[in-house]
Amino acid sequence: MKKTIIIIGAGPAGLTAAYELLKTKNFKVTILEESEYIGGISKTYNHNGNRIDIGGHRFFSKIEKVNSWWKEVLNEEFLIRDRKSRILYERKFYDYPVSLNTTTIKNLGIVRFIKIGLSYIKASILKKEEKTLEDFFINRFGYELYITFFRDYTQKVWGVPCNKIDALFGHQRVKGLSITSVLIHMLKKSLGKLNTKNIETSLIEQFKYPKLGPGQLWENVSQKILDLGGEIIFNEKVNYLETKDSKISIIHTQSKSFEADAIFSSMPIKDLINAITNSPKDIIKLANDLEYRDFITVGLLLENSTLDNLKDNWIYIQEPDVKIGRLQIFNNWSPFLVKKENTTWIGLEYFCNENDELWNMKQKEFINFAISELEKLSLIKKENVLDSIQLKVKKAYPSYFGSYNRFDEIKNYLNSIDNIYCVGRNGQHRYNNMDHSMMTSFEAVNVLINNTSKEKIWNVNTEKEYHEKSSS
Ligand SMILES: Cc1cc2nc3c(=O)[nH]c(=O)nc-3n(C[C@H](O)[C@H](O)[C@H](O)COP(=O)(O)OP(=O)(O)OC[C@H]3O[C@@H](n4cnc5c(N)ncnc54)[C@H](O)[C@@H]3O)c2cc1C
Repeated sequence: MKKTIIIIGAGPAGLTAAYELLKTKNFKVTILEESEYIGGISKTYNHNGNRIDIGGHRFFSKIEKVNSWWKEVLNEEFLIRDRKSRILYERKFYDYPVSLNTTTIKNLGIVRFIKIGLSYIKASILKKEEKTLEDFFINRFGYELYITFFRDYTQKVWGVPCNKIDALFGHQRVKGLSITSVLIHMLKKSLGKLNTKNIETSLIEQFKYPKLGPGQLWENVSQKILDLGGEIIFNEKVNYLETKDSKISIIHTQSKSFEADAIFSSMPIKDLINAITNSPKDIIKLANDLEYRDFITVGLLLENSTLDNLKDNWIYIQEPDVKIGRLQIFNNWSPFLVKKENTTWIGLEYFCNENDELWNMKQKEFINFAISELEKLSLIKKENVLDSIQLKVKKAYPSYFGSYNRFDEIKNYLNSIDNIYCVGRNGQHRYNNMDHSMMTSFEAVNVLINNTSKEKIWNVNTEKEYHEKSSS
């Protein structure tokens, strides 16, 4: 008889798990999804025919299995896009990752350029003990380059200064990127010797991208799940999970109850611990002290915009006098995201905390504020805005602050419940991209089938070798 599996969440992790389980033909699979959308944070939102990719999702992975899986699901619908991103600082554009070309030197001015060089030499000789993210950046780039290109943006993303963030975060997300790696990359590029397997993710120059945004891939996966007999129930938020004999026995949503042999959860760990009816008080306290960073994006449709001439996928806004953190130009991700020719479709990204001043602003007020910020940066004119939309994303980033340093206690408690498997980004409280979110599901399916240790699932993306810049 087929085992019954309930999956919480129809994001990349939940959908990957469902598809992999169904392919074995040994499981009956139901996905419970709180929202009305497929794809979680990796969905594509359609606003009047113009599509928003929340965050801008590059499809790039060093994991072969993920690449072949993406190819199997989407194949010809993938575009190969040039990666171009720059930093806006003091109203001037700089390449990202920073490169040592004449524009950089001209924009910085020779005095600052020399200062940067000297502070880099100093940092190379006098390495600091790496306690904080600030130490981490200074050791790799020198103080001057750190304050010019890293400090303010990183503070916008996390809402706290770099000297209050653990250096572990740098090791996890920025790792091998340094002046040396930038120089080696430039040299290899000029000699035509680039090998994508060995270069830092931040330096990758091309990436795959579904014509209609990341949601297109996940919508295809959901169709495959339905074709294999799986079920996806929307607007069905999991509220409570009853336990009996070290197992989850019943899963409750607002209107229904489900029994299952096993549960794959991609819901945020904080919510999961609170939903399990008899979680111990100390574990609930730790879970409640886990922190997240939330996210707001504003889509603006423009006509006659000078942004039309830019080739960037996104621009990091390092300027401290505005709150916007990053600007996406969706036309450059895929022209198919934009309904009408000769219009420019952009996304303005703000990092915030649920219920702070930005989060609580009324939609119209927020959109006007966002437009005024881009006007202040001389990037757009208000009269050129044809259409707009604001989207809010709760728990976009699991933070490595709060009780994160005691996360093992939460993990051990969850491991003590036999039939629950935690997968994905918030499902593991780890800063996972799509590929690693998927990988947790591949591992979880293996662990379930072979009845092996759950550590393999938790160990995904813990190696220090693979990482991106701190800013995605
Ligand atoms: C700004 C930004 C940029 C990014 N850029 C990239 C990139 O360039 N490349 C890349 O590979 N990745 C990128 N990512 C990461 C990528 O979005 C995530 O790795 C991926 O979406 C995580 O998948 P998931 O299924 O674990 O979680 P999610 O996508 O969060 O999906 C979880 C799903 O569970 C549902 N859910 C939650 N609670 C419940 C509940 N109680 N009951 C029922 N359903 C529930 C949610 O509604 C959601 O649909 C980016 C993320 C952000 C925020």
